[in-house]
Amino acid sequence: MYTRPKTLEEAVAILADGEAQVLSGGTDFYPALGERPVRTPIVDISRLGELRGISKEKDWIRIGGLTTWSQVIRSPLPRCFDALKSAAREVGSVQIQNRGTVAGNLCNASPAADGVPPLLALDAEIELVSRGNRRRMPLAEFIVGNRKTQRRPDELLTAVLVPTKTEGAASEFLKLGARRYLVISISMVAAVVQIGESGLVEDTRIAVGSCSAVAGRLILLERELIGVAARDGLGELVRREHLAELSPIDDVRATAEYRTDASLTLVRRALNACVGTN
Ligand SMILES: Cc1cc2nc3c(=O)[nH]c(=O)nc-3n(C[C@H](O)[C@H](O)[C@H](O)COP(=O)(O)OP(=O)(O)OC[C@H]3O[C@@H](n4cnc5c(N)ncnc54)[C@H](O)[C@@H]3O)c2cc1C
Repeated sequence: MYTRPKTLEEAVAILADGEAQVLSGGTDFYPALGERPVRTPIVDISRLGELRGISKEKDWIRIGGLTTWSQVIRSPLPRCFDALKSAAREVGSVQIQNRGTVAGNLCNASPAADGVPPLLALDAEIELVSRGNRRRMPLAEFIVGNRKTQRRPDELLTAVLVPTKTEGAASEFLKLGARRYLVISISMVAAVVQIGESGLVEDTRIAVGSCSAVAGRLILLERELIGVAARDGLGELVRREHLAELSPIDDVRATAEYRTDASLTLVRRALNACVGTN
């Protein structure tokens, strides 16, 4: 059975028995289906206008779950979103960016999802709604494995919430693939650097994707950079040990060794770009 509800309330009522699959832009859904017929009910959420678009709340910027990558690119957003916008431009092609949604990218939970590292670096939270219930959790806790999340089958990811506290921070996203366009990454890095009035790093968050089952932050490095002068050569402080939290694999795109080397270079470049030396 295929349904295309007009309201969130209607959508979560249909999802309540946990049997139906959610269809949004379909850019991950259909390729994953391959030649198999659909055997479960489908709830197409593309008509839920209330989940589309970006708005400002008191302490948060709210990105509705149905917001497409093209909308992210076109929306006027504070500086700390530069990395997310760059990532949005890397999602497939313009056609994919016009259909593919932010929530779809997060719920699909591919280790190579371009939206994840920049949103981790922005310390984003996600909102999940089911019939009669609404809960929030950090994105860092939501994705728990390769294509595994904490979403229950009766829930919709309705919004991504980014705290406004570091909205003036510099940010950068860098993706390395085997070619320039329409490519799954070998490694990707997002960095957010907040520079204090004294010219020192006040806060920083650095996330790496495609180098572990779940994209993750480099907490050790982040801690070491606090209080360091935010100037030329900041990136050169990054050492291989700082990447110990990653667990890259050998696959058709690259060896684990190459992924680590590439990530080291990307982290250095991203940090240098944030302090204006790239
Ligand atoms: C040719 C091509 C190139 C691509 N290139 C890239 C790329 O470079 N980088 C990249 O990151 N991705 C890429 N993708 C993947 C895809 O476009 C993105 O992940 C996109 O953001 C998925 O969004 P969607 O709305 O199409 O999700 P859908 O395909 O509709 O859904 C994906 C999954 O999430 C679930 N879901 C969707 N929305 C919700 C919601 N609101 N609440 C709960 N569950 C939900 C669905 O049930 C499904 O399991 C590519 C895809 C294609 C076909």
